[in-house]
Amino acid sequence: MDLVVTARRQAASERRQATAAVPGALPAAAPPPLRSGELPLAILVDYDGTVAQTDVSDALMAEVVTDEWEARAAEYDAGLAGSRRLMEWEVGLITTSPAELRALAAAQPHDAGFALLVRRAHAHGIPVEVVSDGFGFFIPAALEAMGVGDVPVVSADTTFPAGDHPRIAFPNGHPRCFVCGTCKRARVQAHQAAGRAVAFVGDGESDRYAAGYADIVFAKHALVRLCVENGWPFRRWTEFTEIDSWLTGVIAAWRSDPDSAAIPRPEPKPFFCGPEVWGEGLWDPPAPAGRSGG
Ligand SMILES: [Mg+2]
Repeated sequence: MDLVVTARRQAASERRQATAAVPGALPAAAPPPLRSGELPLAILVDYDGTVAQTDVSDALMAEVVTDEWEARAAEYDAGLAGSRRLMEWEVGLITTSPAELRALAAAQPHDAGFALLVRRAHAHGIPVEVVSDGFGFFIPAALEAMGVGDVPVVSADTTFPAGDHPRIAFPNGHPRCFVCGTCKRARVQAHQAAGRAVAFVGDGESDRYAAGYADIVFAKHALVRLCVENGWPFRRWTEFTEIDSWLTGVIAAWRSDPDSAAIPRPEPKPFFCGPEVWGEGLWDPPAPAGRSGG
């Protein structure tokens, strides 16, 4: 058993070194500290199924869907398998050209209301950030097409070496927990540490590790169930225009009273994931009682 653990840790160390060696794969910058007089709010947004109205990463895998892929994806959706290992396996299957992949990603429907929200937030000094636990490479172009190319993207770094399969690196992954490709928990906590309450907007499994730490949660689809199961307060949402309306009210309330309860004080939550509670170096989340991992 010890040999197995040692081998896994060695493999994890090698993967970290490989990630660190990928040119251009830099972690996202720390959020700027809140300055006096600034509205103490940051808005973090998932991408697949949230800004994009489909799961773009899954759409790109459609060409290689097999029974094995379905089984692995189902395990992930059930919270039994980590995304980092899944994505590493997935990119090795891709044979479609980067140009075709980008065209397919660009053709996915997007929620145009996101641009309204971004413009309103930026007009009031509120940071907006896309935090995605997907392949990531198609997000900047999509945001550019929506007119909000200045929104920072925190995600994996997928590259396309000539004549080879794509490669994926995880500059925004946790250094000691390998369950997720991008550590959404870390970004929520980074914005809270900078002095802002975090409103998080999402739709699915990868968002559990942000929703459980955020100060305000907007949930739809699978994230609703996750919030209910975990007892996390949330607001249902369908389109970004609803969140834009909410933000309009928050800004008005804060202007009339900077101590308004419309913006809660950022509050660090107890850890429920990561090395603090799971131990070091996990690749899959522990199976909840009564369920078994693959
Ligand atoms: Mg999603």
